[in-house]
Amino acid sequence: MDALPPKVAATKHATSKAYESHFKADGAAHDKAPKWAKYRTEMTGEFPLPYRGGKDPLAEQIGKFVGKLDMLRPEKGGPAYLGDSGALTWTYPEVKDVKIAREMGTLEGVLDEVVGMFQGLGNWGSPLTMCNVLPQGNTAAIMASMMAQVFAPSLIEGEYSWNVQRAELETAGMLGNLIGWDPLNTGAIFTWGGSGCWTYGLKYGLTRVLPHSREKGIRTDAKVICSQQAHYVQENASDWTGIGMDNVVRVQTDVVTNQMDVVDLERILKELTASKTPVAAIVCTMGTTDSSAFDPIAKVRALLDRYPNPEGFGKAILYADAVVGWSWIYFKDYDFATNPLGFSDRVLPILRQNGEMMKEIEHADCVGIDFHKVGFAPYVSSCFLYKDAAAFESLHRRGKDAYLQVRTPYNPMYYTLEVSRTCSGALAGWATLKYFGLEGMQAILGGILETKYYLEDLVDTQPDMVCVNPEDTGLITLFRVYPKGTNAKAQFTKELTEPAGRADLIKNNQLTEAVGNKLFEWFRAGKKLDGKYTPWMSFSTGFRVADYNRDEQDSEEVVFALKSFPMNVFVTPETMKWAVHCVHAARDEVLKDA
Ligand SMILES: *Cc1c(COP(=O)(O)O)cnc(C)c1O
Repeated sequence: MDALPPKVAATKHATSKAYESHFKADGAAHDKAPKWAKYRTEMTGEFPLPYRGGKDPLAEQIGKFVGKLDMLRPEKGGPAYLGDSGALTWTYPEVKDVKIAREMGTLEGVLDEVVGMFQGLGNWGSPLTMCNVLPQGNTAAIMASMMAQVFAPSLIEGEYSWNVQRAELETAGMLGNLIGWDPLNTGAIFTWGGSGCWTYGLKYGLTRVLPHSREKGIRTDAKVICSQQAHYVQENASDWTGIGMDNVVRVQTDVVTNQMDVVDLERILKELTASKTPVAAIVCTMGTTDSSAFDPIAKVRALLDRYPNPEGFGKAILYADAVVGWSWIYFKDYDFATNPLGFSDRVLPILRQNGEMMKEIEHADCVGIDFHKVGFAPYVSSCFLYKDAAAFESLHRRGKDAYLQVRTPYNPMYYTLEVSRTCSGALAGWATLKYFGLEGMQAILGGILETKYYLEDLVDTQPDMVCVNPEDTGLITLFRVYPKGTNAKAQFTKELTEPAGRADLIKNNQLTEAVGNKLFEWFRAGKKLDGKYTPWMSFSTGFRVADYNRDEQDSEEVVFALKSFPMNVFVTPETMKWAVHCVHAARDEVLKDA
């Protein structure tokens, strides 16, 4: 290299000397040091320490601020939100009228503001919380996921996650074993939610069926088949992959079981075969969000094999969307004869049924699993699991990357959609599997099911209420409340089955919505009835269509229902009695205003 011109060399030398003199031996900035160096000193006192032994700011702040967060929890018997108000503290879009401050902020000041943001947030652990599939995370998973933030391993590749990669790999193995696949060839990618899993499943199908699409783009209207009750992320996945939402074909569902109707599926496959249209993927929802219906995946597999894609196209993928229902698989091998965990006769047959349906998931090519749903783990911990890791990973393989070197045998960067990937979901999932074991998960699920049937049976004894999903075997109770004196069961049957009941169906849908909104208003306002806080419930604006609307032509002929989705281990029979009482009170209030 040529020598630098003397003037440049002299400037560089002076700059280096000055830099060396900014800091004292203990690392603190001299008084005369520039402002950046003083900020640096402040930060070295507040960033996590690189070495042990000193007073670590991180450890100190974690203890302190987790303590402050914990103080947001209410006193015993308090409302289902955190802090002392359930109100929203900002308006939109004015909230965005904000600028970054010029000077460095204080650590404690910032963290105090963060604590403030948790004011009013729903408390997933409250027994009064039963609004949706929002579990309280288990301590092992929360801790594991927080630890992923401290030293921040990245699942992009081996060099940056090193031994922490075991979390993803061992999760693949444990879940593969649970399903009954070869654990060594099972693959797992923790990704951005159940919608990410769906997208991966669909992409797998597109890549296998239309192999040239990776280079040339999708040029064929391949179809994505799922049931009428499949989750709406079918739209996200088909839209964002570019196959297009019009290429989603929705199979009718059975009116009673809500399962995919295989007769209708066969009709569709016959038509597609006749028109030489390939299928990219069939999606079986293994546990629908509202009715917990399991599509008959073994039969779907048989049909898929009977109607292969036309020549020139690859084999369609069978994806199981089990993001919400996956954990019922824990009952596939439960000993129902001796019932070691002592579940009641009320729930045993349900547990058996769910376990048997989930046993069939082994027929899938890939499965979506949300630990942050019925896995009692914090967000985001969704796992896209695939049966044939060698095939999936080579199919989606991209070339070398100049920035990265292969340092361990596991380098997902070559085939994942994401580039950098946090380990927090993988660690949360892994910790959950290790902590609960088989029996812990069985106990928590079975226990919540006992609570659900307690509520269902309670609703059944109320003349003006009707449970509208008695066939469902999941954790949700959907029910309607009618004006006092109504024979709810007879009324609902009429609304559901007779076109003559259409006007009533719609009117009582409105009542259901009004009661649901009243309950939400009460919850948010911290209202008390008889000195006690009201539950946080929700409602569905159409979990199913009326019997006379099977072709879904009329958007009003759908069934609204109040929804109880108990998810945590603190809900008791008392909570359920109270919920029923509050629903009655909300109904009275709504009808009084009307
Ligand atoms: C919740 C849900 C999804 C979407 O999952 P996210 O984790 O919220 O992205 C997809 N499918 C089903 C059946 C679901 O219940």
